Amino acid sequence: MRVSEFPVNLASFCHATKGLLGSPDQLLSQMTLVPLFERLGAWPWRKGSTPRPAAIAGYGLSILSNGNTRTWHTCKQCLREDRSHNPYGYWRRTHQLPGVLFCPTHHVLLLACTDLSRQFHNRFILPDETKFEKAFHRIDTAANEDALLRLGRLSVAVLKDDSDFLDAKTKQAVIGQELDSHALLSPRGTVCREAFVPSFLRSFNFLRHHPDFSDAVSCRGVEILCRSLDDPRIWRRSLHQLLLLSWLFGSWEAFKSQCQWHQVMNNGSCKVNLHAEGNLRQTPEVNCAPDFHRAKCIDFMSTTNPSRSKFAHAEAKSFRWLLNHDADWFNQQCPPNRTRDFQRRLF
Ligand SMILES: [Zn+2]
Repeated sequence: MRVSEFPVNLASFCHATKGLLGSPDQLLSQMTLVPLFERLGAWPWRKGSTPRPAAIAGYGLSILSNGNTRTWHTCKQCLREDRSHNPYGYWRRTHQLPGVLFCPTHHVLLLACTDLSRQFHNRFILPDETKFEKAFHRIDTAANEDALLRLGRLSVAVLKDDSDFLDAKTKQAVIGQELDSHALLSPRGTVCREAFVPSFLRSFNFLRHHPDFSDAVSCRGVEILCRSLDDPRIWRRSLHQLLLLSWLFGSWEAFKSQCQWHQVMNNGSCKVNLHAEGNLRQTPEVNCAPDFHRAKCIDFMSTTNPSRSKFAHAEAKSFRWLLNHDADWFNQQCPPNRTRDFQRRLF
């Protein structure tokens, strides 16, 4: 991977600091935005087909801390407080969150670093060594205060959440259900652009004047978001995921409770359609019922010369489901072939 900014070698850092600040994984979870990306299931980097853990992948400092190489944000009042009991001010993680425009402590708009991003490529720069400007002066923050606060609160809640991770299929299914309930899906199950794009932009078009958001809320950016909704194998950027969740659910807690409800209703076993056909809709629940797979097995066993391997070939999904969830019944109906074990016992 090409490192385009100040590279982070966490193993060397922890070795040099004798672990005083923690292990590489602890540093990532306590000082960077990696927990946010992991929890959202949306990363600022493309993980590729053989993803390496963030602790050893060699990502740069800005990517891990901000999700991009351009922006470092701060709050003037926070810096002033730092300097009252420290020799210098320091960066705060919550100020770097993609959806946070206000300081969560002082409720004032954040400032953006004006130094060229390439200055951060060579060494670590502290806030006192750089200059800042008002980052959001081109946005009508007063008229859109509610949307901005909602987005900020959601970002902080994701970062601070320490409960179990939600699995990707559940998240995708719940987002699909919500889109469906707002009539934003076409009969084929893909995102209906005619309804989705104007509705999404009505909420977030005001962000188009901000450099961090302009690409994400452009026509091209929204089309990329739609494509990632149609097919979850397509990479979705973390900013898009935050905007989408804020827009559809309002808060991280509301989204999480819907995911938990979905998991309970599906007993953790209902597989969501893997979008092989680009369909956001969930596989009908009947497919998850034991009766459905048992019936498949009973039907198959009534054919001529049935065998376990033939059933696995003909009804792969039911075979796997029965093996994983109903093994006792399945082994009774369709006993495993013991020929090899029997032969081994003879010798
Ligand atoms: Zn502050």
